[in-house]
Amino acid sequence: MSETPGQSIAPVRAVAINGPLLHRRGQPDREPYVSVVVPIFNEVDNIEALLAELMAAMERTGRSHELICVDDGSTDGSFELLRAAHARDPRVIAVRFRRNFGQTPAIAAGFDRARGEWVITIDADLQNDPADIPRMLARAEEGYDVVSGRRVQRKDALLSRKLPSRVANWLIGRITGVALHDYGCSLKVYHRDVVKNVKLYGELHRFVPAVASSLGIRWTEMAVNHRARTAGVSKYTGFFRTVSRTMKVALDLMTVRFLLTYSTRPAHVFGGLGVLTGGLGVAIGLYLTVEKLVWGHELADRPLLMLAVLLVVVGVQLVSLGLIGEFVVRTYHESQRKPIYMVREVLADDDALADGADGSQRV
Ligand code: UDP
Ligand code: MG
Repeated sequence: MSETPGQSIAPVRAVAINGPLLHRRGQPDREPYVSVVVPIFNEVDNIEALLAELMAAMERTGRSHELICVDDGSTDGSFELLRAAHARDPRVIAVRFRRNFGQTPAIAAGFDRARGEWVITIDADLQNDPADIPRMLARAEEGYDVVSGRRVQRKDALLSRKLPSRVANWLIGRITGVALHDYGCSLKVYHRDVVKNVKLYGELHRFVPAVASSLGIRWTEMAVNHRARTAGVSKYTGFFRTVSRTMKVALDLMTVRFLLTYSTRPAHVFGGLGVLTGGLGVAIGLYLTVEKLVWGHELADRPLLMLAVLLVVVGVQLVSLGLIGEFVVRTYHESQRKPIYMVREVLADDDALADGADGSQRV
C-alpha cells in the first residue's frame, strides 16, 4: 500500500474502545485501512449494483478495505446475495440481524465491527454515489475527523423531506456547534476515533458528528452527487412515519443537547441555580425578619413571605437534584469506563503508553 500523506511520522493516538483508555500509534498500515458500513433493509434489487460500484470506488482509492453489510432483518432475500458476495470476495462482510431493528442499530453494528483507520457510511439504495468516496477519503486524510457529504441537488420531495431537514440542520448546528448543512446525507467519512467513541441510540445515526462534537472533532463538508432511488422503496414514507420520525429526531436532539452540556457536572448546573434561588429566598426572609422584629410589621398577609419560602424550597430541591445527578453521571461514566476527556495525540517516549493493550507495537 502506498504511504499515507501526513502519517509517515506515526503519531500516538489515544483511544477508548468501549473500555479502558488504550494508546496506539496512528496506523497507516492498518489492515484493512478503510471500513465501509452499509445498512441494508430489503434492498435486493440494489445490492449487486451497490457492491460493484463500491468495490470499483474502493479499488480506485488504492487502499485496503472491507465492506461491512449489515442486513437489518430483510425478508426479500437480500442476505442470500450478501452470502454469495462474501463467498466471492471475503472483503465483503455480512452481518445479519435476527429482525428489523432500524437503521441506527444497523450502523452501530457496523461501527462495532469496523477495523479500519477510516470508517465510511453509505446507504444501500444508491442514492449516494460511491464514486464520491475517493475524493472524500483524500480530504479526510488531510487531517479531518469527519468529512460529511452535502447533497447539492437533492432528489427528494420538498415538503416532507427537504424542508424539515433544513430546520433540523440549522437547529443541530446551533446546539452543537457542528453546523453541517446536510446531517441527513448518509455518505460520511469518519476517523475510527469518532465511531469507536460515540454511543448510538434512537435515531442518532444522523447526528454522529453532533454527538461527536464533545470529543473535539475537525470536520468539513463536500458536495456530493445525489440520485433518485431507482429500485426498492424508501423506508420512511407516509404521513405517520414522517411525523413520528420528526418527533423522534426532535427528542434525540434534546438528549444530545443534554449529554453535551450537563453530562459531566450536573452539580454545577443545578447546584448553581439552586444556590441562586435559595440565596434569594434567604435574603428576602432575612429582610422580612428585620421588618417584623425591628419595625414590628405584621407578616401574615405578605405575599413576599410565600415567595421567600418557595425560593428556599426550590433552591434546596435544585441542589439535591444536582447532587443526585452527580451520582448518576458517575455511574454512567464509570460503568462504561468513559473518560471525561479525549486525547487527540500523545507525543511521549513512554514505553508503557506506546505499547497499547490492543496489540499495537512500538515503532
Ligand atoms: N434501512 C435499514 N433499516 C431500516 C430502514 C432503512 O437498514 O429499518 C437502510 C436502508 O436499506 C437504506 C438506508 O437504511 O440502505 C436508508 O434508508 P432509505 O433509503 O429508505 O431512507 P431515505 O433515503 O428515504 O431517508
Ligand atoms: Mg435513500
